[in-house]
Amino acid sequence: AKKAGRGQYRFFDQSLNVSDVEEFHLEQAFVEALRNREFVLHYQPQVCLETMEIIGYEALVRWQHPGFGLLYPDRFIPVAEKTGFVVALGMEVVRLACAQISDWKQKHGTSKPVAVNVSPIQLAQPQFCKDVLSTVSEYGLTTDLLELEITETAMLEGRAVESLHCLKAAGIRLSLDDFGTGYAGFAHLEAVPVDKLKIDRSLINRISNSHDDSPIVSSTIILAKRMALKVVAEGVETREQLVHLKVAGCDIAQGYHLGRPMPAEKIPEFLRTFAEE
Ligand code: C2E
Ligand code: CA
Ligand code: CA
Ligand code: CA
Repeated sequence: AKKAGRGQYRFFDQSLNVSDVEEFHLEQAFVEALRNREFVLHYQPQVCLETMEIIGYEALVRWQHPGFGLLYPDRFIPVAEKTGFVVALGMEVVRLACAQISDWKQKHGTSKPVAVNVSPIQLAQPQFCKDVLSTVSEYGLTTDLLELEITETAMLEGRAVESLHCLKAAGIRLSLDDFGTGYAGFAHLEAVPVDKLKIDRSLINRISNSHDDSPIVSSTIILAKRMALKVVAEGVETREQLVHLKVAGCDIAQGYHLGRPMPAEKIPEFLRTFAEE
């Protein structure tokens, strides 16, 4: 796809104050994009630090726009949240992830779990849990194959907490995303029934090759373990960070050092080189 002129990206700039008219046009563009199946998922491997095996994937949405090319979520998720489109988009993401899991099951007999990002706006929908569960069963899957990553727990009240308990009771695993950014902290951990905690990459970044032992990361790991939560480090970019995290007792790692997000078709090739290392 050809890139449009710079000015055309304006529409997807999150800093833009979207007017009612623009919002209307965007809504049309989103609906059209959904109908044309322009939203796609890229998958980033998650690696167990004990065995160095891939234990699952995080699904990250992209918009394959016919004019603008591949758009990243930071470009359109904030607008989708503002207009409410994120509710429909979020269900499309769940469907795409379930279709992929089902495809892997057909090809290999089994599938690794896939984690999907969920906006607080989706969780506040009264039918969210029911919709997710019926999608999972439509694809003939068990709930343990889908994981949801949640964030901004400060906004989690009433209905959202109900959604989480409903999902959790059905066997869907929940992961607290962006931990340590202010969107998610220990104060919220007791209010929501999560299984995993993902340390944000801004904290992982601070682990350098010097002997700086990054006390925030190690204390987070210790506290999480005391709460019987699995710990995932995101944004792992160097070998030094990986070694440090393993020593500190982190369970799972994800990041460019281990594998970039990629379309599902690229995974077999990725697995061949990953196994050789
Ligand atoms: P996130 O959930 O914190 O996802 C991690 C982001 O870090 C992803 O960016 C990923 O590509 C990137 N990343 C992974 N490893 C590394 C690394 O080693 N170094 C660096 N610098 N970056 C790394 P991406 O795909 O652009 O997604 C951005 C955000 O958009 C996500 O942040 C998530 O909050 C949101 N998002 C993605 N997909 C969805 C979705 O389906 N629904 C909703 N509501 N939000 C989504
Ligand atoms: Ca995430
Ligand atoms: Ca993050
Ligand atoms: Ca996030």
